[in-house]
Amino acid sequence: MAGIIKAVVDCDILTSILKKRKCIIPNITTLIRHQCTATQNYEKYDIAICGGGMVGTTLACALANNRRLENKRVLLLEGGKKFEYKFPEKYSNRVVALNQQTRTLLSSIGAWQHIEATRYCAVRKMQVWDACSDAMIVFNEDYLAEEIAYIVENDLLLHGVNKQLTEKENVNVVYDSKVESIKLPVNEGDNAEIQLQNGKTYKTKLLIGADGVNSLVRTVMGVQYLKWDYNQMAIVATLKLSEPTENIVAWQRFLPTGPIALLPLTDSLSSLVWSLPTDEAKKLLKVSEEEFVDSINSALWKVYPKDGIVESGLRALQQLLDGLSLQTGVTRQLQPSISDIIEGSRAAFPLHFGHSVSYVQTGTVLVGDAAHRVHPLAGQGVNLGFGDVTLLVQLLAEAVINGAPLGDINYLRKYETLRQRYNVPVMLTIDALHRLYKGTAAPIVLVRSLGLQLTNAIPALKKAIIGHASGQAAH
Ligand SMILES: Cc1cc2nc3c(=O)[nH]c(=O)nc-3n(C[C@H](O)[C@H](O)[C@H](O)COP(=O)(O)OP(=O)(O)OC[C@H]3O[C@@H](n4cnc5c(N)ncnc54)[C@H](O)[C@@H]3O)c2cc1C
Repeated sequence: MAGIIKAVVDCDILTSILKKRKCIIPNITTLIRHQCTATQNYEKYDIAICGGGMVGTTLACALANNRRLENKRVLLLEGGKKFEYKFPEKYSNRVVALNQQTRTLLSSIGAWQHIEATRYCAVRKMQVWDACSDAMIVFNEDYLAEEIAYIVENDLLLHGVNKQLTEKENVNVVYDSKVESIKLPVNEGDNAEIQLQNGKTYKTKLLIGADGVNSLVRTVMGVQYLKWDYNQMAIVATLKLSEPTENIVAWQRFLPTGPIALLPLTDSLSSLVWSLPTDEAKKLLKVSEEEFVDSINSALWKVYPKDGIVESGLRALQQLLDGLSLQTGVTRQLQPSISDIIEGSRAAFPLHFGHSVSYVQTGTVLVGDAAHRVHPLAGQGVNLGFGDVTLLVQLLAEAVINGAPLGDINYLRKYETLRQRYNVPVMLTIDALHRLYKGTAAPIVLVRSLGLQLTNAIPALKKAIIGHASGQAAH
């Protein structure tokens, strides 16, 4: 018995294994638990993840799923209550557009099957247009069979991953466990020490911060965090379309106040993501639902005055494209109108740009929103986080294969370099788009309209953009 106690330092993991195997051996677990408390007042894990949102939970599952890492003991600490999913008739107002790379990751851990068996909507076409000119771009207009993105409810995604996680014996998920303080390792090989609000302490060889935009792990690392406010909020809601349709198009209209997007859910429902100046967003949260629906229709349809210089610039470009036989053949599809809002589905979130200059330190790594936060206009935020997960798991497994310790700084640095090489250009492009579309001065509208029309006329360029957005160029 003493041997078992010595080998199994972590009581909670043993308890959860016994529970999962439906073994009722209360005497042994109680004895071990008491022995642990008597000899030491902390539990030890190979990897501890702080934050069980979409990214942290998926990471825990992907680590447990990797053959090289499956014998590592993983702790997932989530400050919130235990997540219980009950299939809701109503769609949640919190959805994400997932790219192909994310779908591949979720499939590889067995979570996509749960999503597929429940509900999601594949986006087969995307139309983006400018309210201040006739410029527009259509993605996938002639590849209707290909799927550009998948609209999935956040809760359902988390449920799919959690369902897989319950099968993993080497992962201990602790809810209601807000991390209050962290002592990071100074030297390689040292442990990080984590203390919860309830006083419980853990030690780990590798601490992963997946604790979202206000990450405590990032703060404790003391790394520089570049941040600027967009002074905008994104209003989300579930909307009823005026007429049922084959709802496979994601629509985004750039207004001078910010972009409005409709993401398809079903033939008659779409999800709204509407970015607006904070004061306007706050006002729209308060108006009646009828008035809110009117505002959405106005945002989708209102005709803005067009500048003569922009008009003639676009005409000249069209003539040039015709001369070069670069007619796009792409016709504008009319956007849907909204008839109603699903009661009580309106909510708003503040928007900002944030990037941690460093993602790693001795024995410590950041993933997901803890490392980077973007404007939702390109639907990339959590996809970037899932890209972090894919690469981090791959490199940790590589470290193990090569006999290096888990938190080997060389592997962590490689993670940081490769992820920043991918994330930073994506983030800066999204930020640049936000700035470009904010302006209404004729020269700015002209430049962006010419750029949009030109891109629309070059299929190879559009394919490359879609490829990048799908995460193809990730590592
Ligand atoms: C309106 C809107 C629309 C969006 N649309 C898209 C989209 O279409 N596509 C896309 O890719 N992205 C989208 N995003 C971005 C996406 O929602 C985020 O990138 C994603 O939620 C980040 O996940 P995360 O797990 O990194 O962080 P979070 O979801 O913030 O999770 C962090 C978790 O850590 C826990 N935690 C925090 N501190 C502690 C602590 N001290 N101790 C223990 N636990 C802690 C929290 O309880 C939380 O569960 C959108 C964002 C917004 C606002």
